[in-house]
Amino acid sequence: LLPLGALMAALIVAVVAWGLRRRLSPLGELKMAVARREFVVHYQPLIELATGRCIGAEALVRWRRPDGSMVRPDLFIPLAEDSGLVLPITDQVIAEVVREMRAALVSDRDLHIAINLSAQDIRSGRVLAVLAQALQGSGIAPQQIWLEATERGFMDADAARATINRARAAGHAVAIDDFGTGYSSLSYLQGFALDALKIDKSFIDTIGAETVTSSVTPHIIDMAQALGLQVVAEGVETQAQADYLRERGVQFAQGWLFAKALPAAEFLAFARSRQAK
Ligand code: C2E
Ligand code: CA
Ligand code: CA
Ligand code: CA
Repeated sequence: LLPLGALMAALIVAVVAWGLRRRLSPLGELKMAVARREFVVHYQPLIELATGRCIGAEALVRWRRPDGSMVRPDLFIPLAEDSGLVLPITDQVIAEVVREMRAALVSDRDLHIAINLSAQDIRSGRVLAVLAQALQGSGIAPQQIWLEATERGFMDADAARATINRARAAGHAVAIDDFGTGYSSLSYLQGFALDALKIDKSFIDTIGAETVTSSVTPHIIDMAQALGLQVVAEGVETQAQADYLRERGVQFAQGWLFAKALPAAEFLAFARSRQAK
């Protein structure tokens, strides 16, 4: 009789939870996901092109719903940005990165993890206090956490400059993400003290193709290098792209040629296998 009662209770809870979810708006659902800490992080390996070594990963958030399904970030980050919920989501990403990567980062000082900041994170700057708090006592060096911001984060130039300078003063490297997809030129970026530039996948896709933008890609690389920025190519899918980028002096790359974004344990196994190469 007891197991039957427990079963009934579980059934009622499930039905009520389902009903609640059904009545919630997308924003209501996202709020609930934040409250329940339903965000997980996958790690896409970053590869040093000259050696093939794995030098770290980009942390990419996913929303794991109670039914186990994974929601891609482009399906909820825009709503999270419009509603301000992206701030607590960034906090959860930071907490997850520290929890899952701490041991590996402490034992290998050459590894780093890149975390994506939204325009709101950049504008408020509050994320730096959250990060400092999370790193305190962890043994992780601030140099092992890189921060990525898209051009949208640079629209409020004064706020962006302040956050970037504070981040670098704390020891983090800062990269401009998805470069080439927005409107800002490299000369505009000279007004910010940056460490690295990530070339958007749409430019990597043109390598080897005879298109108008294929002639732009080498110029982005040359100018980034002239500005003293480290260059990361994203979305590398073919060996021909990797070879081209390496020959051009691009230091780092990520993409499906090497690995997709992986759960923590799989990423750590990948990183170990790619250490000595
Ligand atoms: P992004 O920062 O440009 O991240 C790279 C995206 O490209 C990732 O998708 C990654 O899985 C995908 N990708 C990487 N290599 C390849 C490849 O070789 N081929 C193809 N076709 N795709 C590749 P994902 O994980 O779906 O992320 C999408 C976007 O969501 C990210 O673009 C980023 O803007 C945003 N995002 C992800 N995590 C966070 C986060 O923690 N916070 C914020 N604010 N935004 C995030
Ligand atoms: Ca990114
Ligand atoms: Ca991109
Ligand atoms: Ca990117």
